[in-house]
Amino acid sequence: MSSVTIGIPLYNEEEVFGSLLGRLEPVVRELKKEHSTTVLFIDDGSTDDTPKLLDSATQNHSWVNYIRFSRNFGHQVALTAILDHCTDDILITLDGDLQDPPELIPQLIQRLNAGNEVVFVYRKTRDEPLLRRLTYSSYYRLLKFFWRIPVQLDSGDYAAFSRKAYESLRDFREVHRFHRGLRSWIGFRQEGIGIERGARSAGSSKYSLWKLFNLAFDGIFAFSIFPIRFSLFCGILLFLAGFGFSFFLLASYVAGNELPTIYAVFGALTALALGVNFVFLGIIGEYVGRIYEQVKGRPQYLVERFVRKNGREIS
Ligand code: UDP
Ligand code: MG
Repeated sequence: MSSVTIGIPLYNEEEVFGSLLGRLEPVVRELKKEHSTTVLFIDDGSTDDTPKLLDSATQNHSWVNYIRFSRNFGHQVALTAILDHCTDDILITLDGDLQDPPELIPQLIQRLNAGNEVVFVYRKTRDEPLLRRLTYSSYYRLLKFFWRIPVQLDSGDYAAFSRKAYESLRDFREVHRFHRGLRSWIGFRQEGIGIERGARSAGSSKYSLWKLFNLAFDGIFAFSIFPIRFSLFCGILLFLAGFGFSFFLLASYVAGNELPTIYAVFGALTALALGVNFVFLGIIGEYVGRIYEQVKGRPQYLVERFVRKNGREIS
């Protein structure tokens, strides 16, 4: 009998939690016929009633465990904690807002057992506002341009992993994590399943604009040095242009021409060059900042408590 962990990060999800548990229950009951099954929730420092709801869930269901972080560390870090604490044969990760239908889990496991190490879910459609959809879809296409590895277009963090796959991912200790990218990075045999993704079942997105912005940056800067190399290309181009222009000025002066208006052009070019310089300083800063955060070597999260079956606290 193989064993399954279903890992779900939660941050202020009191409005969804009841229906999430309700939807998980029949799925877990079905899975238990063939697999010993545990649901591991990560309470990512919720400030609403999510912790209370989790406490009563562990009292009422032997298959519910949860880890509470000491504060909000973010969705990607919560996924890291799930990888760290999984000891079962199969790991499933999904969002807690029911945008990822739990009913798909048996199919994911079935495809995993068909010889895959990872089975991920991608969105054929998204039931979200047009601007958000457009931003997401162009972002994934931008990643395809930057990355040296295959990009699983329009996929989220809903996926099933074999032990080999999730243990490989566990070895990645980088601070700035973009899990769907790392998942693609590890290789092995992977398969995607397309779904029509619905809207979240209740409440509002727990990704603030700032968090979304950070995630988008991690997707680019943690997987590619193309931006920094691009600055080199632009630097060379600007140098050549500047050199050519100066040569032209000099030649024109030697030929006895007046130079006054050309100074305005020169000023404009200087401003342009300065602007480009600052942009690239910023890009270098992104990488240097990431190196700094990495070398500090801080733990990625702190656990306040780990509650297992029947409300028993183990740490
Ligand atoms: N989440 C989290 N920590 C955070 C933000 C989000 O654990 O700081 C969880 C959230 O509760 C949900 C999942 O991550 O289960 C995805 O977040 P959300 O659905 O709000 O993101 P969106 O789908 O809007 O991008
Ligand atoms: Mg969501």
